[in-house]
Amino acid sequence: MSVSTAVSSDVTSDVAVIGAGIIGLSAAHHLARQGFTVTVYESGRPGYGQSAGESRIFRHAHDDPRLVALAVRAREQWREWSDEVGTPLISADGAVALGPAVPERSTILQQQGVAVEKLDPSALRDVLPILREPDDTGCGGSAMFDGSAMFDTAAMLDVDGGSIDTRSAITWLADRFADVTVGEQVIALHHSENGVTVRTPTTVGNHGAAVICAGRGTAALARGVGLSVPVQLGAHVRVSFAVRDTGIRMPTVQDGSGVFGARGVYAAVYPDRSGYGLGMAGSVDAHDDGAIDDGAGLADLAGAAAEYVAAALPGLDPTPRDVVHCWVTSLPWGDDGMAIWRSGPIVAFAGHNLFKHAPLIGQTLADTVRSGQVPAAFAPEARLGAAD
Ligand SMILES: Cc1cc2nc3c(=O)[nH]c(=O)nc-3n(C[C@H](O)[C@H](O)[C@H](O)COP(=O)(O)OP(=O)(O)OC[C@H]3O[C@@H](n4cnc5c(N)ncnc54)[C@H](O)[C@@H]3O)c2cc1C
Repeated sequence: MSVSTAVSSDVTSDVAVIGAGIIGLSAAHHLARQGFTVTVYESGRPGYGQSAGESRIFRHAHDDPRLVALAVRAREQWREWSDEVGTPLISADGAVALGPAVPERSTILQQQGVAVEKLDPSALRDVLPILREPDDTGCGGSAMFDGSAMFDTAAMLDVDGGSIDTRSAITWLADRFADVTVGEQVIALHHSENGVTVRTPTTVGNHGAAVICAGRGTAALARGVGLSVPVQLGAHVRVSFAVRDTGIRMPTVQDGSGVFGARGVYAAVYPDRSGYGLGMAGSVDAHDDGAIDDGAGLADLAGAAAEYVAAALPGLDPTPRDVVHCWVTSLPWGDDGMAIWRSGPIVAFAGHNLFKHAPLIGQTLADTVRSGQVPAAFAPEARLGAAD
């Protein structure tokens, strides 16, 4: 006598999407667009994992020209989403970059027809008025600043870059799938006769396929279905600082110059233009189980952000306002690395610095489910996003 495994809390749909961050929600959006019924599984609040916080940088510039091409297509989709949402999801202020990587990156942008402007120091000041004047030595008491060095620093403006309004994007997408979202942690998923079974504390889901885009949770779920996703886990912090004059132009900033004592600084203005979220590149290492040996290292990163603001950005109040702590899930081939893994009808996605590419990644995941094929560019062996 066979025992029925059917339980009252069975869930069924064509595709299970595990994780309601920007990638999962974008995948659900495109799957629904392609006519699939979708169930979204989310153990926390949609958009409060690595997608937390008010803003992100949209930039076209990447060391890997393939990611520039991806960003161009993603930028088009952000325009379409903005039309649907009825508000610009990317600010019109542009994206500024400073430092030794600029010349090569701007060449790649020009080769791909992306609008980019070379900025001399006075043009830089016009585009980025929060920045310290080259001849202003009152550098927040720090001896780091050598104004003349700014004259030797390469700078560019990515005209169609800008600050992403993360909350509006997340809210719009999450609301669309609110009725089909299971607000529970996926404990396991496995292949089954009709496709995939997904198990949460109180539900059993039966789906034709599944997309795992659970950020920090992806590697463990993928390993359960035989996929080895080499995520390197870390923890990061970003701090926000108030803008002194809200009537000015506020492009996003990436500073790799070292002129103000730090390299690898990034900053994106909040949608309400009241402040910037600013962070230092780098994260504190974490073990696969999430244990962090050097929690105090996050305080050092936050302190370095405040010091940078005092040194470089007098247009901001250097008093920290609020913070975003989050996991970082980078791949071995680079901070901008991303890839798709597949085991039959189960697809897993991982990478970092993904927000800007999210509309395009979501479409690619939906196409992968429909075709059953991972596009060659997203296969792990393609090392998409590698700088070399
Ligand atoms: C401070 C900071 C600054 C950044 N700056 C930029 C930037 O300027 N530009 C840019 O493009 N990118 C940037 N990024 C990266 C970008 O934000 C992330 O790559 C992106 O948000 C990842 O989205 P995701 O959907 O893959 O992951 P997440 O947003 O983490 O979503 C995964 C979701 O899965 C859920 N989940 C996990 N396990 C399970 C489970 N077992 N069952 C159910 N649900 C589960 C989690 O709760 C989470 O909500 C930044 C990231 C941080 C943290």
